[in-house]
Amino acid sequence: MRPPADPPVDTDPTAPPQLSVVVPMFDEEAVIGMFVDRLRPVLDDLGQSYEVVVVDDGSRDTTPALLEKARRDWPQLRVVRLRANAGHQAALSAGLMRARGAWVATIDADLQDPPETIAGMLTAARERSADVVYGVRNDRTTDSLFKRHTANAYYRMIRRLVGHHVPADAGDFRLMSRATVDAVNRLPAQNRVLRLVIPALGFPSAQVEYRREERAAGTTKYPLSRMIRLTVDSLTGFSIAPLRLATWFGLGGAVVTALLLALAVVAFLTDHTLPGWTSTFVVVAAVGAIQLLCLGLLGEYVGRLYTQLQGRPTYHIAYDSADEADRSNQ
Ligand code: UDP
Ligand code: MG
Repeated sequence: MRPPADPPVDTDPTAPPQLSVVVPMFDEEAVIGMFVDRLRPVLDDLGQSYEVVVVDDGSRDTTPALLEKARRDWPQLRVVRLRANAGHQAALSAGLMRARGAWVATIDADLQDPPETIAGMLTAARERSADVVYGVRNDRTTDSLFKRHTANAYYRMIRRLVGHHVPADAGDFRLMSRATVDAVNRLPAQNRVLRLVIPALGFPSAQVEYRREERAAGTTKYPLSRMIRLTVDSLTGFSIAPLRLATWFGLGGAVVTALLLALAVVAFLTDHTLPGWTSTFVVVAAVGAIQLLCLGLLGEYVGRLYTQLQGRPTYHIAYDSADEADRSNQ
């Protein structure tokens, strides 16, 4: 039995806590109870002041009501509600913007990232004087074969195109110092893939291995379409290699065309008229496809410039339970 949880002795209730734990949640009614029961003893045992910032990413189920209920007997639980579903990365960004802790950890709500690892991360940060501690999955056997293979391909490609400073198999379970969080918050918000921008900031880092557990309950909020979106964001947001790919396609196409042209001249000279409907059709179709692909690629970059220029926020905060507490303190 753990002792009744007194809030840590903090003379000034508005003083920033030592640790913030940011948790994005989208339709997580099935896991909230389990998550709270497992996270709370871990944080209470740290002997530090803390806050848990749950970012409710526009949930449509009973998540908001369950969070309100949980908040009643867990004073350190804070709820930031977004007006609409903004996506995992934007929800994390919202949480980082709102977190006040000297250290900030981010963790998934489905218990795939074991909360106990946070203690190990804090120790690693202290012992190795690191500003960032990545949670690195040492075992993915609980993920589906499909997820494992796609994840593997994703990290291989990213490390090749974006740079080897991106740790492989590090998702969004990590601990960051205040300086790191402030640096992240100053970056442009659009298409922010945290696992790529954080290593690029160059803060000293350490890694802590953990076993990726099975989702405790509920279903994944990352369907294939979102995985593809994350990959496109990761590639086009951090590297112009795909644009170069378009150039290579163009060059390859030119070489093939030249060969075909030579072939046609030879056929004409040797009086072999080509029956050639099939080959013509194939070439036209292939060239068309490549052109479309390249146009689409350009579109991705132009679109990115456009949204960046507009500077539209990537999320809208509807409510923050801490603002309410601040008001009632005044
Ligand atoms: N999530 C979110 N907004 C979304 C999708 C997911 O806040 O639009 C949260 C989700 O509630 C969970 C975390 O992001 O806490 C990771 O999602 P999930 O576990 O479904 O992804 P998976 O582990 O299957 O990749
Ligand atoms: Mg998950």
